[in-house]
Amino acid sequence: MTRSLVIIVSLLLAALAAGFVCEDELAKCLKRIDKGKKCQGLPLPDNLLPPVTVDAKGYNLTEYRKGVYSVGESQYFMMIVKTSSQLIVVDGPEGNFLIRDANGVPIGTTLTDAIKEIAGDTKFKRIKIIYSHQHYDHIGAVPFIYSYLETAYPKAQIKILAHSAILKPLINGDRPGFPLPTVLFDKKKVLKLRRNLKVIIKPQCGGHTPSDLIIHIPKTSGGVGVAYLVDVIFPRWAPPYNLAIVTDIHEYIELHSRILALDIEVYIGGHFTHVGTYQDVLAAKAYLEDLLAASAEGLAVSSSTPLPAFFDVMDPSSRWWGNLSHFVKDFTEAGVAVCSRIMIEKWGCRLGGVDIWVDAHCESIINFLRLDN
Ligand SMILES: [Zn+2]
Repeated sequence: MTRSLVIIVSLLLAALAAGFVCEDELAKCLKRIDKGKKCQGLPLPDNLLPPVTVDAKGYNLTEYRKGVYSVGESQYFMMIVKTSSQLIVVDGPEGNFLIRDANGVPIGTTLTDAIKEIAGDTKFKRIKIIYSHQHYDHIGAVPFIYSYLETAYPKAQIKILAHSAILKPLINGDRPGFPLPTVLFDKKKVLKLRRNLKVIIKPQCGGHTPSDLIIHIPKTSGGVGVAYLVDVIFPRWAPPYNLAIVTDIHEYIELHSRILALDIEVYIGGHFTHVGTYQDVLAAKAYLEDLLAASAEGLAVSSSTPLPAFFDVMDPSSRWWGNLSHFVKDFTEAGVAVCSRIMIEKWGCRLGGVDIWVDAHCESIINFLRLDN
């Protein structure tokens, strides 16, 4: 699709979407909740419209400072850093980047085209691939990238860097021949690429998975500060699922402050429609703080309200007699309902997908407050 056609289609989609205004629908949604009904769903906030489209070549390339790029499509982002002799490829997501044959079998990735476009005629001496964490949706295209790089730069030394905690899940995974890391570490690493450009890789355990890395390019006179951390903050969107299947909520909460302590203007979160800014990280932290408060309020209500399920469980004539799971479910749902109502009213038109994921968020934090805090 040509760029002008992409713009026309985007404008048409925006015009079609204009039938729904988030603030109007939010008022209707809250009325339904107050009547004990389900919210019918909210249209996306204005700052997510029109929907992001992808160039005909299958990816969008953005350079933030000399040699530092994000490569994205509508669902995934990865990062590439280039100097006159070195190439650093951070992740290799699957998503729509994968090229498939008629039977749906992956046969390549458009990311090799992105690398080719960035590299130009540079003859790299050293190439590093970095795995940001263990999930294949972010590194599943690496076999294609690795074999492309081996062929295109036969004289280059290619290393794969990753957190040492990644090895077990990769070995246990069902992907025979998947390129395993050649350099494993669990302490901070600094790659000095040139005067004014260095890449700091910090192991970060538990914000998403035990093998997470934060990749930080500090701000210098040569350009803006950039942070790359995947599946923790989703710029302009609420985290999917239970806070992006977080394994350690204490770490998850602290991680937001840790990112804000970095001197960054650009935050690459790995997903959805936008690369973020420092303001997006601030918004994610504010969402989390409100979620903690709303969950505490929900927990207080469910703890102090006599729930019908309690009497069911205590009643020998009830079908629920002795069924503690029935009570626990009701107890949790009562707290989640209070928490979700508060969060939807405050955030439903500020981040995309809040109406969809907020119940899972509230349940995670309520359980965290009950059990882990
Ligand atoms: Zn992940």
